Formats: sequence, C-alpha cells, structure tokens
Amino acid sequence: MPQFDMKIVPEATVQGHDVIEHTAGSPVKEGDSNETYRCGACKTKLFVNVSHHEAHGLVVKCGKCGKINADPHH
Ligand SMILES: [Zn+2]
Repeated sequence: MPQFDMKIVPEATVQGHDVIEHTAGSPVKEGDSNETYRCGACKTKLFVNVSHHEAHGLVVKCGKCGKINADPHH
C-alpha cells in the first residue's frame, strides 16, 4: 500500500488553481483504492486509499499546519 508525502509549495504558486480545504481530523477523501497521500510538512493524511488518478494534479491546503500541498508527481 504505497504512501506518499505531497509536495509543499508556496501559496503564490497555486493562485488561480482550485485549492481544496482540508479539515483537521479527517482526510479530504477516503476511497477504496490503495494510495495514501500525506501532508509534506506535518504528515497528516490528506487522501486515504485513493487511486493515483484521483490524486493527480490536486492542490490541498492542510487543515492542521496550513501549508499548501501539491501532487508529488511520482
Ligand atoms: Zn500539514
């Protein structure tokens, strides 16, 4: 079950993109696939058991540390 840390990017980088707001305490999305994505700064799980294409290109603001996370393009 692969687990990835997302890439922290400066907020200015994602201006104009859709930024998903994560709420601390529960993942943005929990699916039935096999990839887990964590905040690159505080390791909070942002997407749990999602498929690769579901996480592709996403930008998420971590609800715990407030950092902007982008798809790590692994
Ligand atoms: Zn975080």
